[in-house]
Order: sequence, then C-alpha cells, then structure tokens
Amino acid sequence: MTTSINDLIVAAPDTSCDVELAKGPWEFDTFPGYGPGASENDVIPEPVVRPGQLPAEYQRMTDDELHARIRAAKDKLGSRLVILGHFYQRDEVIQYADFVGDSFQLANAALTKPDSDTIVFCGVHFMAETADILARPEQHVILPNLAAGCSMADMADEDSVEACWEDLMAVYGEEPDADGKQPVIPVTYMNSSAALKAFCGRHGGIVCTSSNAATVLEWAFERGQRVLFFPDQHLGRNTAKAMGIPLEQMPMWSPRKELGGNTVEELNDAKVILWHGFCSVHKRFSVAQIEKARAEFPGVKVIVHPESPMPVVDAADAAGSTDAIRKYVIASEPGDVIAIGTEVNMVNRLAAEFPDRTIFCLDPVVCPCSTMYRIHPGYLAWTLDGLVAGELRNEIVVPDDIATDAKVALERMLAALPK
Ligand code: SF4
Repeated sequence: MTTSINDLIVAAPDTSCDVELAKGPWEFDTFPGYGPGASENDVIPEPVVRPGQLPAEYQRMTDDELHARIRAAKDKLGSRLVILGHFYQRDEVIQYADFVGDSFQLANAALTKPDSDTIVFCGVHFMAETADILARPEQHVILPNLAAGCSMADMADEDSVEACWEDLMAVYGEEPDADGKQPVIPVTYMNSSAALKAFCGRHGGIVCTSSNAATVLEWAFERGQRVLFFPDQHLGRNTAKAMGIPLEQMPMWSPRKELGGNTVEELNDAKVILWHGFCSVHKRFSVAQIEKARAEFPGVKVIVHPESPMPVVDAADAAGSTDAIRKYVIASEPGDVIAIGTEVNMVNRLAAEFPDRTIFCLDPVVCPCSTMYRIHPGYLAWTLDGLVAGELRNEIVVPDDIATDAKVALERMLAALPK
C-alpha cells in the first residue's frame, strides 16, 4: 500500500504546512478562496454541485468503497473516457490517470484519444479551461472539484490586467517604433485564466509554459520593445535574467498601486514588467534549504522549478519545468543524491520510481499544492458516476468568444518550441 500525503500529515502534523489538509476537502473547500473565480467568465452549467457540497453519500464512503466505485465507472465508460492527472496530483487519484504530465502535455494528451467524448481533468481550473479550448468541439471537459483553482492564476484577474494595460498605453502610446516594434507585448504564463489568455490573443501576445518561456520571450522581443509578464514574477524574472536582462529593467507591477508602484521613468526604461504574482508552493523554497542539503549530503545535485525565487534558482545546480526535472532524474546515475524544489507529490513519486537514488524534497515540511489536493477520490467517484448516469457534473465550458482569442495565443505558444 502506498503512503499518501494524507497519512504523512496525520502521522506528523508538526511537519505539515497545513494540517487542515488531512481532512476531507469538503471540510475546507467552502472557505472563500480559489476556484472558478480564476475565470470570471466561466459558464457553469446547472445542476452544479458547488464546492463543499459533495453529496453526503460520497463523503461517508470508505476509501475502499470509493475506489470500487471509480473502478466500476471506469470499466463501464471504457474508451469514451480519458482521465488526465497532473504531476502534482495525489497518488490516490493519479492511479486512475490515463496520462500523467504537466499542464501543457495534458492539454494535448486528450487529443490523442479520438474515441473519447469526455476528459476528466485531475488538475486545477486553468488546466481544464485550456483542455476545453484545445479539445474537439464534441469533447466535454470535467473538473471533479470546482474549488480546485490555482492561487497564482487568481493573482492576475482580467480587470486588473486591463487597468494595467490602459496605464501602460497612456505612458507608451499605442504606436509602434521606427522598427515596427509594439510598445509592449503581453505574455501570460499557462497558469492563468482563459480570459487572460484571450487578452494576450487580442493584443498581439502569447502564452508561455515553464518549458518554453525563453523561446517565448525571444518571440516577444522580435515584435515588441518590452514585455508585460503575468502572473508569475519568478518565472518571468528567472527567464529574463538568464537572457541577460538586468534586474533594474524588470520593475514589478503591483495592481493596487498607481502605475503599479513605478515612476514613468522606470516604466520607460523597463524591458520586462513583472506582475506581482507567485506560487505559494514554490515560494517556500530557500537558499538555506539548499545549503542544508549540501551540508548533509556532500555531492547532492539540486534542481528547482523556475517558479522558485531567483536566489534559489541561482543557488541550485539546475532549474527546469516539471518535465525537465523528470528528465534530470532519469538521466542521473544509481547512487546519486538529488534534492528537488517542486511540489512534494511529484518528488515522492520520483523517489518511489527510482529507489536506487536518494531523492527528496528540498522543503522538509510536507506542503502539497493545496488546490490540486482538492481533487479527492470522492469527487472523482461522484463525477464518474454522473457520466455513467448520463450527467455531466462540473463541466468546464469556456465561452466561444474567449476561447477563440485564447486559442490564438495558445497556438503561438505551440509554435514556440523549448530550447
Ligand atoms: S503548484 Fe502553485 S502554480 Fe501550480 S497549481 Fe499549485 S498553486 Fe498553482
């Protein structure tokens, strides 16, 4: 039997960043927080079970009963169903995934199953939106728990970005320079709402992933004098710094301050304007953790995700997307010691897959992505039972006008291959 994060939290509550996670998610996902608000333009069809309203029958089932229900529904649905699981998803759910990968790989994975009419996305809200945009028109996308949002994606809402854009246009004007370059190109990280991807599509911008961020910034600088990068300041800063852009030319945009907290001179000198957003999981990694790992394990190799703060990326041996981290481990040798700075579910799974290496999470405190964690087997069983009964529960539908513009920015991203 595998040990779940839940078991670890219960066994050692003083080493968990949030002991609330040991409860069923329905006990905490009614709190105001993340979720469908990540895209305020969502159309949520009725009937819908709001977060925290999972039918009592499913809340009461034992783990064995839930898993029996999931397996039975999967068998009945056969090739009509594709279950996608993000690298950060918990083991109790990931065992049912037909594909496991990062958000970009998963968005494409469903397209490789032509028989499927329903995609159940065991990730977070923006991933399900992206899958709906890229899916065939007849395919439906389901997010088992609508409270599974992304705290980073919610840090940049459409109104704040529109207001920022207006301010920037007032400073820069809207005309291109003598070389035909636009004053500013908007670049959004994949971890953002469909509405912001559409914003980028409408304004000559593009979506990036953590794999192709450098290629995307080059694409943007071929077309513009500077970049507005949202919502993750760390990915933007780490990528731009690696391209040789000085930190002084990367001002931060704080949405509640006038001109984002900058002067006109600072904005005129800017090359990359960074939105004040971050991932609550990756910002926990620190240089002190790396130093501790090196003291305890001389020769340890340290790899971190570029959503980590810049000093952490600078102190690590390598930085890369979830896919790059996986490839780094695959390329390592038996006996190697590897400290990884990314979400703990993915790290534990790599450790189990490569028992001849010592693999551990840089952060000694158990801190899973708490929003991804909201996809509990209870929600999965309830949505799959719905499909068997002919009901689409928690379908994610991106309205056509948003999907059309967002697809423009996503297709630009697809053409920008990682270096
Ligand atoms: S790990 Fe961070 S960026 Fe990724 S889904 Fe969770 S909160 Fe969002």
